[in-house]
Amino acid sequence: MRLLLMGPPGAGKGTQAESLVGKYSIPHISTGDIFRTNLREGTPLGLRAKEYMDKGQLVPDNLVVSIVVDRLESLEGDSGFLLDGFPRTLPQAEALDRRLQDLGWGLDAVVNIEVPHQTIIERLTGRRVCRQCSSTYHLKYNPSQVRGICDTCGGGLYQREDDSLETVQERLEVYNRQTQPLIEYYRERGLLLSVDGSQEIPAVLNAIIVSLEK
Ligand code: ADP
Ligand code: ADP
Ligand code: ZN
Repeated sequence: MRLLLMGPPGAGKGTQAESLVGKYSIPHISTGDIFRTNLREGTPLGLRAKEYMDKGQLVPDNLVVSIVVDRLESLEGDSGFLLDGFPRTLPQAEALDRRLQDLGWGLDAVVNIEVPHQTIIERLTGRRVCRQCSSTYHLKYNPSQVRGICDTCGGGLYQREDDSLETVQERLEVYNRQTQPLIEYYRERGLLLSVDGSQEIPAVLNAIIVSLEK
């Protein structure tokens, strides 16, 4: 299975990805997680990405594309994949198409998670993330069993710096301007599956699985 997960910040991409990669036994490639891991480890890539992430802007295309291409080429054979948070611009989508064509790997579907603006703000400001394994929680909608501690690995939870109200507004504008046009791009190619992301987490997962298996 070769999937892309799209949707505005806070739509629930990372949350649904955690379940989908288990169900379909495919590797999860999240560009946001890759940047945050690099930042924690203090690599040059992490430090470069931070300049943009802190402002809610996109990391330049050439940087992101080369990271994703490296990941795709390091996959063991044709294992399938779930790309989460990539592509986010038209040039990224075109670069991905070219690379997949070289590899002879067609996409199975592009899952677009739709949520209204107000929901997004509430989700992002209440989001907490595990420092160790990147699992995602929400103070109200998906709390960990012990406050501040990851259920999966026991790591500490933190609030992302770019989940402040001010940066969230900028990220939404960036999404509308640069990423939203990709919905049409994939619709034209017959790959788009849109699901209502305003339902509860298990209902969204179910809607995704039903639409993938149709
Ligand atoms: P969210 O899931 O909340 O939308 P991500 O974790 O996917 O956020 O991304 C966090 C930040 O990392 C983005 O705001 C952006 O700065 C950077 N980033 C992640 N993926 C990409 C991408 N495909 N292109 C450019 N920048 C990206
Ligand atoms: P994205 O990767 O698209 O930015 P996340 O998966 O990180 O989004 O979800 C953003 C926040 O909203 C997290 O705190 C997550 O626990 C919460 N969340 C995700 N899906 C739902 C849902 N269907 N209902 C309520 N809260 C949700
Ligand atoms: Zn964890």
